[in-house]
Amino acid sequence: MAGSKYAYVRNFELPDPLLPGTFLVFRLDGHSFHRFSTEHQFTKPNDVQALMLMDHAARDVMEEYKDIVLAFGESDEYSFLLRKSTSLYNRRESKICSTLTSFFTSCYVFHWKEYFPDSPLLYPPSFDGRIVVYPSSREVRDYFSWRQADTHINNLYNTIFWALVQQGGKTTTDAHAALRGTVSSQKHEMLFKSFGVNYNEIDARFRKGSILVRDIEDVSHKPLKWKKNKAKTKINLLHCDIIKDEFWDARPHLLE
Ligand code: ATP
Ligand code: ATP
Ligand code: MG
Ligand code: MG
Ligand code: MG
Ligand code: MG
Ligand code: MG
Repeated sequence: MAGSKYAYVRNFELPDPLLPGTFLVFRLDGHSFHRFSTEHQFTKPNDVQALMLMDHAARDVMEEYKDIVLAFGESDEYSFLLRKSTSLYNRRESKICSTLTSFFTSCYVFHWKEYFPDSPLLYPPSFDGRIVVYPSSREVRDYFSWRQADTHINNLYNTIFWALVQQGGKTTTDAHAALRGTVSSQKHEMLFKSFGVNYNEIDARFRKGSILVRDIEDVSHKPLKWKKNKAKTKINLLHCDIIKDEFWDARPHLLE
């Protein structure tokens, strides 16, 4: 088919393939959710409905894209691991990134009413997205450890911060000041002594984040393998540790 004299501009669109045989991690994060959560009156420090809506949108993404084997969510962000053998959109970076970000965002909006029946959307939320390529399972493990450690650090801080504000009557400025320079053990102690809260008894969803994992249904009792996409799989939602080996040892197929 002969193109027009203008068709040459197409050549300015450069290919953007992601390195073959590498793990792809796609992460998205809510744009200005500090404001979005305030305007939509999210419960602080953790609005459980908002977290469940994030989980729902992430599950929809995994139902749609079977090469995603694992996802991890906290706050306004979600990370997705694509199998290293994925040939999704011929591994074109902007295609994968823009399509997944767009799909997640529309699922978030699509399901909003189920989680916030009395609080209509005041304006359209948006998310940014990026893809990072990791060469080996070591970096993938460390990536997810990094995000879960972040969840823990933020949640411990936010839990004591909002206790100081909501129950301790401090201003936000004073609460930040009271926490400046404190280490983890001091925060645990403050929480217990001043508010009678044992941090380890707080909802695991808040402490550990959300893990959506594509598990292989173990019908044959053989070693868990994908078997050329024919394995029966199920997406499970967990709030468990993913830093230690146990989670991964039970699921060798995730890093296959
Ligand atoms: P950016 O656009 O740079 O990402 P941001 O305002 O979204 O800016 P983040 O660092 O992503 O900043 O932080 C998200 C903020 O959204 C958190 O600080 C928190 O205040 C709020 N937030 C997100 N989810 C929840 C939730 N489930 N419950 C309460 N607050 C939430
Ligand atoms: P992707 O699969 O990521 O969408 P793409 O945008 O190159 O890649 P398509 O969107 O499937 O591919 O199709 C676009 C192709 O169809 C282009 O090669 C273009 O030449 C042709 N095309 C699309 N719209 C028109 C149109 N209105 N008139 C003529 N050709 C068109
Ligand atoms: Mg940010
Ligand atoms: Mg954000
Ligand atoms: Mg964030
Ligand atoms: Mg197209
Ligand atoms: Mg097109």
